[in-house]
Amino acid sequence: MPAQILDGKKIAAEVRAEVKEEVSRLKAEGINPGLAVVLVGEDPASQVYVRNKHRACEEVGIYSEVHRLPAATSQAELLKLIDKLNKDPKIHGILVQLPLPDHIDEKKVIDAIALEKDVDGFSPANVGNLVIGDKCFYPCTPHGCMVLLEKAGIDPKGKKAVVVGRSNIVGKPVAMMLLARHATVTICHSRTRDLAAECRQADILIAAVGKPELITGDMIKEGAVVIDVGINRVGEKKLVGDVHFESAAQKAGWITPVPGGVGPMTIAMLLKNTVEAARR
Ligand code: NAD
Repeated sequence: MPAQILDGKKIAAEVRAEVKEEVSRLKAEGINPGLAVVLVGEDPASQVYVRNKHRACEEVGIYSEVHRLPAATSQAELLKLIDKLNKDPKIHGILVQLPLPDHIDEKKVIDAIALEKDVDGFSPANVGNLVIGDKCFYPCTPHGCMVLLEKAGIDPKGKKAVVVGRSNIVGKPVAMMLLARHATVTICHSRTRDLAAECRQADILIAAVGKPELITGDMIKEGAVVIDVGINRVGEKKLVGDVHFESAAQKAGWITPVPGGVGPMTIAMLLKNTVEAARR
């Protein structure tokens, strides 16, 4: 039987509606949640992402300011801006759009964001808290994966989860979150010896690789939940995931489409983190 679709667009809209209500409650208490987004340079994809984040904030009533800095901005200037935003009471969350130009040390910049305003959740201190199970912000894309599971009524407890990809922004944090929810977790990567055999074990399979349609139906266990984080442009217009949707959907119990799966969840989770930062 073909898989049920985990509709990220619909679930993200539900999350945004919940956030909107929470924003109204906060405003009634005199708290006006605020997000600052910092963009350095003119990378076209980053400009689109930043515009979408700003628009999403406006839609739910979050105050948002975008700081667009020229590509030649020095690291010292950028750090000065972060310091100013760290001290600004209007701002509860700070997001620096990555990648930064080569002359800027990304790690230094992320490190400079105050822990309580790190709504992207990329700072070492936040990641450390995530690993030890302390209070933290869940990084937005992995958090989106977890909410998709939750909304589909899938409890990771006791299940075998396989995460393909070990990046700091998706693979590693989502593996930690699954572990925290009591899944038995395997992390696969470019040097994994038999990826297909590992994937076939998975009750929950999360693909975050960046390789078009790497994971095919024969690698999926019957009835598995398949979450495809990958966004790969093929040719001029077509977007595909890391999973070959048509064949995987014949085996999986649940599957996310690309586009319209994890993608829309990422911004929704950023809004949720910003509101949580304001609430704290
Ligand atoms: P990355 O390049 O940082 O990491 C890719 C990982 O895949 C690495 O850990 C690598 O070891 C592993 N890998 C590479 N080839 C492999 C192979 N043949 N077999 C097994 N593992 C292999 O990528 P990332 O930043 O984690 O992003 C992964 C994908 O997710 C990309 O397509 C990216 O565009 C997408 N993405 C989507 C969102 C979203 O909002 N939906 C957010 C972030 C990333």
